[in-house]
Amino acid sequence: MSDINTSQFNVSAVSTPVCPCCESSRIRIRNYGKKTGGTVGAVAGAAAGTASSIGGAEVGASIGAAGGPLGIALGSLAGAILGGLIGGATGCSVGVKLGQVVDDRILDNYECQNCCHSFSLQTR
Ligand SMILES: [Zn+2]
Repeated sequence: MSDINTSQFNVSAVSTPVCPCCESSRIRIRNYGKKTGGTVGAVAGAAAGTASSIGGAEVGASIGAAGGPLGIALGSLAGAILGGLIGGATGCSVGVKLGQVVDDRILDNYECQNCCHSFSLQTR
């Protein structure tokens, strides 16, 4: 229904800063941290997921133990795969959020297209 319109309005309302130098509203958002954070987060999450998938493999193996040796093998495999997948997805979303914070707080995420001044949104 009106969900898309509402979210678009919210995004543009939040991400329309004004240049502190010339007060122009022609601002470009770089989002370096957000992009990097998503990629790094997905990789780190997959790595962490693989580590935690050892736990998943153990759980899967104990559940599969009811089905004998084959059950243990299938159970640990399923547990390991699930652990890796969940880790990657979680890591990506965490990385994006983290990158967003880095963008907003640390990097000069905004660039004025009028006077080329770079700045970040810092609440004083
Ligand atoms: Zn400016």
